[in-house]
Parts: sequence; C-alpha cells; structure tokens
Amino acid sequence: MKVRKEATMTCSNCGRKNQRIFDIADYDRQWRHLNFLEYPCYIHAEHPRTECKKCRKKHRVDIPWAIKPRAGFTKLFDAWIMMLVKDMPMSAVSRLVNEHDTRLWRILHYYVDNAIATQDLSHVTHINTDETSSKRGHNYITIFVDSDKKNVIHVTKGKDASVWETCKERLEAQGGKADRITEVCMDMSPAFIKGASEHFPEASITFDKFHVIQEANKAVDAVRRNERKSCAELKNTRYVWLKNEENLTKNQKAMLDKLKDTELDTTKAYRMRLCLQEIYQYPAQIAPMVLEDWIQ
Ligand SMILES: [Zn+2]
Repeated sequence: MKVRKEATMTCSNCGRKNQRIFDIADYDRQWRHLNFLEYPCYIHAEHPRTECKKCRKKHRVDIPWAIKPRAGFTKLFDAWIMMLVKDMPMSAVSRLVNEHDTRLWRILHYYVDNAIATQDLSHVTHINTDETSSKRGHNYITIFVDSDKKNVIHVTKGKDASVWETCKERLEAQGGKADRITEVCMDMSPAFIKGASEHFPEASITFDKFHVIQEANKAVDAVRRNERKSCAELKNTRYVWLKNEENLTKNQKAMLDKLKDTELDTTKAYRMRLCLQEIYQYPAQIAPMVLEDWIQ
C-alpha cells in the first residue's frame, strides 16, 4: 500500500486530526495477517510520519489494523493466537503457525499485561483461593479468584498469611475495597485463616469442600493405621477407604464388600466420612442440622 502525498492523518501523539505527512518513515513495513486459504498472508504498507501543528513533534501514525507499540502482526492475527493459546501450549501454536515462540509470547504478554492493568475489581465481594506448586512442591503459588465472575484477580508466590496482604493491595489498587468482601473460601491452614481475618475482617470464612473431606480422610487413615496392628484383614486396604466407591479397582471393591458391614473401627470411620460427604447434597436449610447430628 502506498500513501498519497496530499493525504492528511491524525497525530498519534496528541490525537489532532488532519495533519500533513512529513515523510515516509518505512517504505515497506510488513504485518502478518490471517491466512488466506492455506497460505500465510502479509500486509505490506508504507508507514508515514506526521509533523503535528499542535504538539510540534514528528510521529509515526497509528495503524488501524495493528496495535500501536508492537508491529509485525495484525490485530486479527493476534486474536487468532490468543484463541489458540487458551487451549494449546505455546510450542504447539508456534509449530502450527510457523512463527518463533518468542514473537508469539510477546503477543500473549501484551494482552495479558493490559488486561491485568485495566482490570476492574470494584464489584468483588467473594474471593476463592486455590494453591498450586512447582518444583515438586517447593515453590507454592496462591491464586485468588473472584468467585462470581470466575476471574483470576491475583496470583502470588507463597502460601503464608502475608499473601492476603498482597491480595488486598491488588484489590484496592483496582477499585475494590477490602471491607466489601463478605466471603472468602479457602483451605484450613492456620496461616490462611490468620491472614484472611486480618486483612478482610468483614468476610466470613468457608472451608473448601475438598479440604474438609481431605481432613476426614486423614482421620479415617489414622484409625486404620492404629487398628491394623491388631487386625490382619486390614492389611493393604489403605486406598479402599480413601477413594470413593466408584473409583475402586475390582480387587479393592471386593475387599470393601467383605469388610464394609463389619464392626471394625475403620469401617465406622469410613461410614462417617461417607455421611459427611452426603451432607453436601442436602438443601441449605437442612444441612446445618444434619451436620450438627453428625458432629454429635
Ligand atoms: Zn500532535
């Protein structure tokens, strides 16, 4: 594409319209666009500069088909990459579109950084947390999620009480308010409970179902370990009690059928775990009463 000499364009620095072209900064600028059928497609164009009467500076004009700070790809190509990386590793996308992954990572970082910087958290009232680890459990990462909109609002290293402070800072920097948070959902670690109650004093704490059942499973396992010393039948039955029935192997299922109606302490503990799990199926009006019974 060539630029007409008499054309006027908008100043990319101050936005003033109808500025005369000063020169052509690039005579053959190239942007990769969406494929044309199975062939890669490129847009070639001259890239002019305006000399603005208002700000009195020379600037390259904005390109309507590409994002300003980065050139090389059109907005539609960017959108295509962003769609692919939702479902595929970057190395696979790189092979598919035949571009070096460094260039593709730049696209991803541009849009993600931009989304993080402009994220509006003023509506957030409920926060869910999740943790994950890398390097065989040595580096913990805590993820905070707005449970209404299912968006990640903050990610930070560590899983101690201080991560709640960084979450609060992030929330308030993006328009949210700590005292508007009415509910937080998390695991049962004392450090988390301390951090959340300190920084989100108005929030009630809900323990994640997964972690509650995990605690019940730990208790079942402790009972089994203790009883095994005096009961040979319990040998090699650890996972029979810890898994849900539908996930047992054929052998484990046969062992469970043999043991489940006995009066062993392990069986009793196992049945209590099942009852606790069932309470989650009850309607919210009845569940607290059933839980009370279970605790008794
Ligand atoms: Zn200007």
